[in-house]
Amino acid sequence: MQYFSTRNEKKLIPSYYAIKEGLAEDRGLFVPERIPEISLQQLRNMCSMNYQQRAYAVMRNYLPEFDEEELRDIISASYGSNFDVPTVAPVSFMDSKTGFLELWHGPTCAFKDIALQALPHLLTRSLQKADEKRTVCILVATSGDTGKAALEGFADVPGTKILVFYPRDGVSKTQRLQMITQSGENVFVSGVIGNFDDAQNGVKMIFADAKFAEELDKRGYFLSSANSINWGRLLPQIVYYFSAYCDSVNAGKILFGDSLTFAVPTGNFGDILAGWYAKQMGLPIRKLLCCSNQNNVLTDFIKSGTYDINRKFYTTISPSMDILVSSNLERLLYHISRDSSEVRSYMDALGKEGRYTVRHEILDAITKDFDAGFASDAETKESIREVYEKSRYLMDTHTATAWTILKKMRDAGEYTGPAIIVSTASPFKFSENVMTALRPDLPSMNLSTEDLARYTGQSVPAPLKNLEERQIRFEESVERSGMKDAVSRFLA
Ligand SMILES: *Cc1c(COP(=O)(O)O)cnc(C)c1O
Repeated sequence: MQYFSTRNEKKLIPSYYAIKEGLAEDRGLFVPERIPEISLQQLRNMCSMNYQQRAYAVMRNYLPEFDEEELRDIISASYGSNFDVPTVAPVSFMDSKTGFLELWHGPTCAFKDIALQALPHLLTRSLQKADEKRTVCILVATSGDTGKAALEGFADVPGTKILVFYPRDGVSKTQRLQMITQSGENVFVSGVIGNFDDAQNGVKMIFADAKFAEELDKRGYFLSSANSINWGRLLPQIVYYFSAYCDSVNAGKILFGDSLTFAVPTGNFGDILAGWYAKQMGLPIRKLLCCSNQNNVLTDFIKSGTYDINRKFYTTISPSMDILVSSNLERLLYHISRDSSEVRSYMDALGKEGRYTVRHEILDAITKDFDAGFASDAETKESIREVYEKSRYLMDTHTATAWTILKKMRDAGEYTGPAIIVSTASPFKFSENVMTALRPDLPSMNLSTEDLARYTGQSVPAPLKNLEERQIRFEESVERSGMKDAVSRFLA
């Protein structure tokens, strides 16, 4: 199993190189040359395994250069006592046909931990395999959750440095506090004046700057990515789709072999793309519902075949989904078209005109596996209250977006079968908006995680406790044009 860029299928590289580099030189994303299959018999066996064993059964197919012991070590280091439940990613069933796949039991209380607890281990081993002597500098643009999860994963990992840029006005107070109080000698955090796309574009420009790379090389550094464009991020996410399927079988919610629908709150298209890989590998998935907030560029794309970012950008109550350019879509376009020049032409058009339209064969293939919808903030808040009042299950704002869209589709008579909602954050991470959703009569100013805990009788997860009391280490914000200088200063 080798890898190549979505923009050039001729240059094959090993898995550890794809993980080490993050983004291809031609600015494409690395993809596996083919998608391996898991047989129904193997899937049946996975149902009696624990999460770590399921992770091994999935990930081994993609990492031929990692031997069994090595990969099992990586997995046990990634998914142990750093998660607050031994099941790592449990499914909580709300009724006979609806479950929440809870991906927020890790150290930062959001789904990014699943990948970012594994990536430092995958990456440091990849560097050894590639005989890389320089220090890797992880450069991250974050819409909120990736930043903290990456900091938590890489803090004080030998041979690495990590730099995180977040949109100054586009993350929640909790998210910001989590990042700017991060400990570790090898970490740097800065705000960017602008939105997530500004931060992400700034990071992409730094990656594309060959002269700067040369300069860093002289200083003994090279840049890599922990954004979900890195294959090492995507791969660990495929696992939980298999795991949720097995858990649904084990709980008697579906019969083995039945298909499941997954509703996925989507931003950069990484989480849901992992589900698509799972489906291609043979997991019985009926549809993947691509769920957006008011920033519904993906909804329009899946409905029309035109991806168009010439539109207003909204700051919503689900900030990790406030994205106009969903980078991982490029991987899907490659796998479906199998044509790097076609992918390049779409991405060129996106760069030049901010829009592209795919051929109708491509759109047909996409809608075979995906459906899409979006929810407004008002609908999302109403859902949080409705679900809490009906079943005492507390959803965060991102999860509630997906629940809302699934409900709308069920009400319309679609997807009456079993479905899993991918639950991407602890409600306590977005407590102010969750609290005002539950109690619209309260003034929203200064509602805290403790208020939510008191109101619901649930306890605040340990990583989110006493954030206000921690020492602030990073106060700086920079213009997008100043990002490169900030990197250069940190790596002086
Ligand atoms: C990152 C994130 C998402 C979106 O995931 P993508 O892989 O970017 O599509 C949704 N919800 C939360 C809480 C997140 O942190």
